[in-house]
Amino acid sequence: MHSPELECRASVFYRYEIHPYQHPNEMDGDRPAKPVVIVGAGPIGLATALDLARFGVPVTILEEDLQLSQGSRAIVLTRRSLEILQQLGVESPFLEKGLPWSHGRSFFRGKEIYKMIMPHDADDRYLPGLNIQQQYIEEYLVNYCQQEELIDIRWGQKVLAISQTEAAVTLRIDTPEGEYDLIADWAIAADGAAQRSASSCSFAWKAAPIQATS
Ligand SMILES: Cc1cc2nc3c(=O)[nH]c(=O)nc-3n(C[C@H](O)[C@H](O)[C@H](O)COP(=O)(O)OP(=O)(O)OC[C@H]3O[C@@H](n4cnc5c(N)ncnc54)[C@H](O)[C@@H]3O)c2cc1C
Repeated sequence: MHSPELECRASVFYRYEIHPYQHPNEMDGDRPAKPVVIVGAGPIGLATALDLARFGVPVTILEEDLQLSQGSRAIVLTRRSLEILQQLGVESPFLEKGLPWSHGRSFFRGKEIYKMIMPHDADDRYLPGLNIQQQYIEEYLVNYCQQEELIDIRWGQKVLAISQTEAAVTLRIDTPEGEYDLIADWAIAADGAAQRSASSCSFAWKAAPIQATS
């Protein structure tokens, strides 16, 4: 039985929130195939879900934790990442919160010993880097996902195994209530580099083509 941490993580720079686990209808026998299931609600899973929703594709995200990522991870978004966020139409809170930068200087005993200047062109919309902690990146993406009717985030649901046939992908999922199967046309592994899950490689399992509705 999956037991996600129920206490908010301790942090000096971020106030964590618990996203409640919700009982999945599939446990009561409701088994319609999902068009796309994404494993992992990190930056990649969340951004992919927003992109698919933009094209009218319903998405189910499975996240084993009940809260956002732990500790110090990404602190700088590159220009390209910002451009992708802009394409998704979600860049505003990032620009409001983040600190844009184009060069760095290192000092030793008051003397500048190193200076780094990142290339920037007048035609670039954004500076090369934007300082913002990963927790905020994920928070903003989760907020946008939660406003999107086509995206269903399932917190506290851990993917144990994935199998596929010509017709469908089946994900075996562990929850605080026990296990169930979820059937999908496509499954996308966005479970990070830690290789904790049964999916543990970043590609999409294709069982059947999906049709974008717009
Ligand atoms: C110390 C450090 C510093 C870094 N600094 C930077 C930086 O400055 N800039 C930058 O761009 N990047 C940085 N990175 C890298 C950045 O953190 C990763 O590239 C990013 O987190 C990858 O996003 P992701 O969505 O692919 O995976 P993750 O963020 O790892 O998200 C994967 C998600 O999948 C969930 N998951 C895993 N297995 C399962 C399962 N079986 N079932 C359900 N859910 C599951 C996890 O709980 C997690 O929420 C840094 C990383 C570290 C560790």
